Amino acid sequence: MDFLARRDRLRKVLKKAELDALLVTDFTNVTYLTGFTGDDSYLLVRKDGDLILSDPRYTVQFGEECPGLDLSIRPPGVSMLQGLVRAFRSGRIARLAIEADSMTVGFRDQIADRSPKLELIPTGGFVERLRLIKDKDEIARIRTAIWQAEKAFGVLRSTLRPEMTEKDAADELEHQFRLFGAKNAAFASIVAVGPRAALPHATPGANRIGDDDFVLVDWGANEGLYNSDLTRVLITGRISPKLERIYGVVLEAQRRAIAAVRPGALAADVDDVARAYIAKAGFGHRFRHGLGHGLGLQVHEAPRVAVKSQTILQPGMVVTVEPGIYLPGWGGVRIEDDVLVTRTGHEVLTHSPKELAEVVVG
Ligand code: ZN
Ligand code: ZN
Repeated sequence: MDFLARRDRLRKVLKKAELDALLVTDFTNVTYLTGFTGDDSYLLVRKDGDLILSDPRYTVQFGEECPGLDLSIRPPGVSMLQGLVRAFRSGRIARLAIEADSMTVGFRDQIADRSPKLELIPTGGFVERLRLIKDKDEIARIRTAIWQAEKAFGVLRSTLRPEMTEKDAADELEHQFRLFGAKNAAFASIVAVGPRAALPHATPGANRIGDDDFVLVDWGANEGLYNSDLTRVLITGRISPKLERIYGVVLEAQRRAIAAVRPGALAADVDDVARAYIAKAGFGHRFRHGLGHGLGLQVHEAPRVAVKSQTILQPGMVVTVEPGIYLPGWGGVRIEDDVLVTRTGHEVLTHSPKELAEVVVG
C-alpha cells in the first residue's frame, strides 16, 4: 500500500487550510497513514515530511511495518508531551492542527502550557475524509476479509448441529476464519437463536441451535488491517408463515436498497428505499437502526447510511446494507452485505447465499 501517497494527499489538504502540520493522535488514522498497527504512537504530518513519535517498545515494529519513516523514539523518562514539544520547536511549527475527536482536552491544555506561542487549531475529519474512498489495495484487502468470513461461515453451516449452543457456534466460526488466515474477529460475533435475534447486539449464550426454528449470525473477519461484516439468518427448523413473510420483506428491502447504491446517490435516500418498503409492509416501527455504515480499517466508519445522512455516495466507498425487522419475543431477521460503490453503480462484494431456500440447513 502506498502510505506516502496518502500522507501527500493529506499534506495538500493542510496546505489549502494554511496549516503547518497535523498531529495525528487517532490510532486508526495513524495506521491508515503509515501501516503501523500498534498504538501509543502519534504521527506529525508536516509540510516538509513526516515524523512518528513513539517509545522504545515499538522500534522493531516500526522498522518492519513502515520502513523509511522518520522515527522519534523517546528515551525512557521522556514523556510524549516533552517529545512533541521538541518536535514542534525544531520543525518551526506555528499553526498546528489537532484531531478534536481524538485528543483529550487535558492533553491539549498541557501542550498549550508548554508551547505558548503555538497556535492549536482543532480540526475534524481530515484523515477520515480521505479514508472514505478506498483505493484498489484497500478493496483487495476487504475482499480478503470477506473471503475469510464467508469460507468460515460455509464450514459452520455444514457442521451446525441442534445441540450446539450459540457460543459453540460463534467460537467455531471465529476458529474457522482464523484457519482461513484472518488475524482477528472484526467484532464479537453474534449468534442469536429465535427470540434472541430480536436484540440487534445479542451476545452468544447457552441457548441451543435446536431451541428454535432459526438463528441469526452477524460476523466478520479482520485480515490484519481491514474488516468484513455480514449477517445471515439460517433456518434450522420449520418455516412458519410469519418467518417466511418477514424474511421475504427484509430480503426485498435489501435488494431494492442495494439497487439504489450508485455514485451521486444521497445516503439518506438509499436508507429510505429500504425503510419505505418495510414500512409499507407494516413493519416500519420494527426497523429501528440505520441501513448501513462504512467499512474499512474500522467495522463502523464513515459514511453512515441512515435517515438524514447527507453523504453523497462516490466510487470507492464501501458500505454495508443491512435492513432488519425485529419482533420482541419472537426474534428478528437482518440480512447484511458489503457493497462497493463503483463508477457505474455498485458491486456486491459478499456472496453468501441469501434466498430463503438457500438458508435452510439440516
Ligand atoms: Zn454486522
Ligand atoms: Zn454492520
